[in-house]
Order: sequence, then structure tokens, then C-alpha cells
Amino acid sequence: MPFAALGLPAPLVKGVRAAGYTNPTPIQAKAIPMVLSGRDLIAAAQTGTGKTAAFILPILARLLEGGERLRALVLTPTRELAAQIETNARDYARFTDLQVGVVYGGVPIGPQERMLRGHGVDLLVATPGRLLDLQGRQSVSLDEVEVLVLDEADRMVDMGFAPDLRRILKLLPDKR
Ligand code: AMP
Repeated sequence: MPFAALGLPAPLVKGVRAAGYTNPTPIQAKAIPMVLSGRDLIAAAQTGTGKTAAFILPILARLLEGGERLRALVLTPTRELAAQIETNARDYARFTDLQVGVVYGGVPIGPQERMLRGHGVDLLVATPGRLLDLQGRQSVSLDEVEVLVLDEADRMVDMGFAPDLRRILKLLPDKR
């Protein structure tokens, strides 16, 4: 049980098996134990190497312990990436009660506000501008975020998101 051997809890191991994965990829084998231990991590890997699961799985493991609040935030540069990360996260979390949500720009904000104010989410995947809009409208609180992921951080900076990222960082707890 290689995923279990990395320290992932049973419902998530079941989730990755149902997704059709048998063995962790190299970045997963390296990153999962480090994220589970709560350490900060910078990782680089090419597309298609399993990078998304490398951070989502140990974050979901952490979220399984603890209350129902927005505790993990994944920032990513594009709507397509955001949607893809959310789909993967939902897939891995399907045998848990965790709630996963996604917000991005270019679509009406109302349904995203209703989702956040309604059932709420444990893990939110977001593009930076829309997240700030939602925070400005007090539709989301970032006060209890424990885990922050900057997915494709280099691309976010290239796309001019650095000021938005700085604003978001100021809204998060100092210790995360
Ligand atoms: P990514 O690099 O995160 O974009 O992942 C690339 C593709 O590999 C996605 O379609 C994942 O569903 C898939 N994938 C991720 N981890 C594994 C794994 N351990 N075994 C097989 N496929 C995987």
C-alpha cells in the first residue's frame, strides 16, 4: 500500500485508488511526507508529474483533523487550472465529508458568494483577483487559513498578480 505507507489516511488512499492511481509519482513520494509534517515546501516539477496530488493529498489529510472552517487556500493563475485542481481535490476527497470549492473570475460572482456563505468549504481553490473581490464583499473570511499553496507561483507573478498576492498574504494569519 504505497500511498498508505506515505502516511495518508485510509479514506484518501481509497480516493486515490478509485482515481486509478496505484503508486505515488516521485514528487508525491517526496512531498507528501513533508507536507504531512507541516513543513513549508517549495517544489518544481513538470506538468504531468502528479504535482497537484502531491500537495492536495496531504492537505486533505490535515483537514480531516479539525473543524469545519476554511482552513486551506490554493491560489492559481487561471480559471482552467483552478477548475482542474478542484476537480482533482473533490475526486480524492470523495470518501470524506470534506467540502471543496472553487472561485475564479470571468463568471458571475453571485453563485460563488452563495456557495461560500451557504455550506462553506474546508478547502478553496481560487484565482487571486476574484478571491479579493469576494473578500471585499465579506463573502469569505481568510482568518483561519492554516495552509496556503501558491500553485504555478512563477506564472502568477509573470501575469502581474504580485500585488494581489501581497494583499491576500496580509489577510491570512501570520502563522500558517
Ligand atoms: P499533474 O501533474 O498534477 O497535472 O497530474 C498529471 C496527471 O497525472 C493527472 O491526470 C493526474 O490525475 C495523474 N496522476 C497524478 N498522480 C498520479 C499517480 N500517482 N498515478 C497515476 N496518475 C497520477
